Amino acid sequence: MADRHRVTLIPGDGIGPEVASAARLVLDVADVGIVWIERPAGATAAAEAGDLLPDDTLDTIRETRVAIKGPITTPVGSGFRSVNVALRQELDLFAAVRPARSLPGVPTRHGDVDLVVIRENTEDLYRGIEFAPGTAEAEALREELRRLARFEVRPDAGVTLKPISVAGTQRVVRFAFEYAKANRRARITLGHKASIMPTSDGLFLRTALEDPIDRGDVVFEDMQVDHLTAELVRRPSRFDVLLLPNLYGDILSDLCAGLVGGLGLIPGANIGWEYAVFEPVHGSAPDIAGQAKANPIAMILSGAMLLRYLSELEAARRVERAVDEVLREGAVRTPDLGGSSSTGEVADAIARAVTSR
Ligand code: NAD
Repeated sequence: MADRHRVTLIPGDGIGPEVASAARLVLDVADVGIVWIERPAGATAAAEAGDLLPDDTLDTIRETRVAIKGPITTPVGSGFRSVNVALRQELDLFAAVRPARSLPGVPTRHGDVDLVVIRENTEDLYRGIEFAPGTAEAEALREELRRLARFEVRPDAGVTLKPISVAGTQRVVRFAFEYAKANRRARITLGHKASIMPTSDGLFLRTALEDPIDRGDVVFEDMQVDHLTAELVRRPSRFDVLLLPNLYGDILSDLCAGLVGGLGLIPGANIGWEYAVFEPVHGSAPDIAGQAKANPIAMILSGAMLLRYLSELEAARRVERAVDEVLREGAVRTPDLGGSSSTGEVADAIARAVTSR
């Protein structure tokens, strides 16, 4: 097919390059005319360009408007900002969409899960407003808090701030209702801890309740996030779309991945007004990197979400059905699903199933 879509491809770190080439293979055989523009981010970019998130990578996404990326390693407690968080904030990708559905041939406790997590992606505790203990900034913050409200923060405390705004909430609430209506989803459940954090989570809840958006037939309810978590593991089929602030959305989307068979299966999209970046929910899995053991399905299904975004609906369906077919047959699967096939073998099997349709 003639070149129709320019897409930025960021292989990422750890298992990223392995699952990225699997997704590229499958999208190429889906034959919708994608021109790939590969750009680095993460450890590769730091080694090549001395920068974890080079301007050229960001500019390329701005130019192509769509990107698909492998996971990027964020060393724990290193003090530098996560590339993933920076990317979402730089491109204002305010809504993360993470569907989790029961897949054929993947036995789990609950066989009838069909959930979509919509997570606010730019605010909350992930905004990156950090005060390290003992710094002049932390000292000034302690002083200010004492002056403002007689709060006494211990001198050895680290502080992370949790901003949640009306504007930031409104846009993700509207996105969630538009998504639910367009995808024939019946119910949105908003998770929060408004009883303990009335000014941040409470604002998230009130803004959603008061927003004048046309809700169509979509039922709206809210639940305390701890109760929601317990109900999710007990009766996941009771839920449909979950709308969550950033931190809870991050945690509950991994929980939803666990409900349907693990992180290797769950795709994701980060969407803003102008740009969209597709990526699996899982991380760079350093424990299995370079061993050809990574399950490429999460990344391939992220590719199917990208195809939908490009309005290539028929190709998206072919890719999703090919994944289902390979899982249902069960002969080719990676070790996380109890098999012994390699990443490449799974990708080849899915690619063959796409071309035979
Ligand atoms: P992880 O998702 O990388 O791994 C958790 C577990 O799941 C590991 O045992 C891993 O082997 C397994 N796993 C993950 N993906 C798999 C796949 N496709 N196939 C088979 N098994 C898979 O989570 P982590 O270990 O907490 O994080 C590792 C690194 O990834 C960290 O630096 C973290 O910051 C980063 N991370 C990046 C992203 C992203 O780029 N969007 C998301 C999450 C974590």
